[in-house]
Amino acid sequence: MPGEVICRGDEIIAVGSGSATAGPEGSAGFHERELDSATRVDATGCTVMPGLIDAHCHLTFDEPRSNDELFFHRDHTLAALATAHHLPKLLMAGVTSVADPDTIFRMGPAIRDAVEAGWIEGPRITTGVAALLTAVGGTAGRLIPDEGEVGYAEVVRTTDEMVLATRRQIKEGADFVKIHATGSIPTRSGELQVWTRQEMRVVCDTAHDLGVPVAAHCRNASSTRDAALAGVDIIYHASFMDEEALEAVVESGADLCPVFTFLSNLCDHGPEVGAGTNMVDVFRGEIAATAEMVRRAHDAGVRLLCGSESGFVLTPYGHWHAREVELFVEHLDLSPLEAIRCATANNAHAVHAADELGVLSVGRRADVLVVQGDVASDVSLLGDRRNLRAVLSRGVPVDLQRAWPTRDPLPGSRVGNWAERPLTWDLVNP
Ligand SMILES: [Zn+2]
Repeated sequence: MPGEVICRGDEIIAVGSGSATAGPEGSAGFHERELDSATRVDATGCTVMPGLIDAHCHLTFDEPRSNDELFFHRDHTLAALATAHHLPKLLMAGVTSVADPDTIFRMGPAIRDAVEAGWIEGPRITTGVAALLTAVGGTAGRLIPDEGEVGYAEVVRTTDEMVLATRRQIKEGADFVKIHATGSIPTRSGELQVWTRQEMRVVCDTAHDLGVPVAAHCRNASSTRDAALAGVDIIYHASFMDEEALEAVVESGADLCPVFTFLSNLCDHGPEVGAGTNMVDVFRGEIAATAEMVRRAHDAGVRLLCGSESGFVLTPYGHWHAREVELFVEHLDLSPLEAIRCATANNAHAVHAADELGVLSVGRRADVLVVQGDVASDVSLLGDRRNLRAVLSRGVPVDLQRAWPTRDPLPGSRVGNWAERPLTWDLVNP
């Protein structure tokens, strides 16, 4: 790890040991050099590393407590404002780039462009438009209609509609197209494959012809196998792979983004925030089974991406982006540096900037973190914002001293519960 990085504008122009130019004792951070207008990142006693990239973050979801809230209790204007409210939190947590697979009200490209044009503050964004679902639905079960759009979902019923929807999303500015390859049917356990391999291939061929990659949500073995065989570029979750699925992934060259954080947060901390505990054993089993096969994929040369699934009530913005790095160490038995590389150099591929981001070297973009302590020996340092000494985004220091963004509720902006349990007569008359 270098001790010093020098940037000019949004470009790294020098990387060195820093011994010759180290700042005052104990200091770390950015110093403007008046002579040449370069920004010097001095990291005495700290780790200097590339900005974190989150390969799976739902920027427009606004931390919903339920699918019902996410799909049916959102207002277009407020959703955009909420997204703008949350985005600075990512920068304050050291996340300088994100891939967002699907957005409500198709707002992804507009949010991305507004950040890029300086209208609102946020990390670099690579975005989808809406998730493509078959009429069987996705993870929201029967809340998904047979046709049309709701929330982040765009239902496609025929291969003709798949072609049309893919082209339309790309016209709107999609950086990638997302398929919801598995979904849940309330009477069946787990998620079922709800796209055929042929249907996925139609989307992949259409998108690839226009130079756009495809991602797929796959929470079982057959969907992971078929997504790989159909040409999907990024497979999210990749749960419960079997030998066939593993072989297909290895041969296809697809990237895997397993997403342990959401499940782990629910298992480890759900009860503290009133989450149901009935799925804890199931999710722990999913983590263990998935981790074993993802590790084997890694050993076979598959690129692993690191994504937190931030954007839900169990994964609020700015809090858990680095936990996936820790979980890669814990469950995949990667070294801290290997796991950090997943969240930086590997994830740079997920945001289509493999030559520009994810590595500190001359000529790369100036997204830089300075973390107190040695993250190579203790990766959990990354998850505690108090350890961030400095964050440089596009060559500009992020204000880490300001108060964490908060807001008061607006009337009707949240779903209110009358009660958590039925008020039965027996309950009050024991
Ligand atoms: Zn997701």
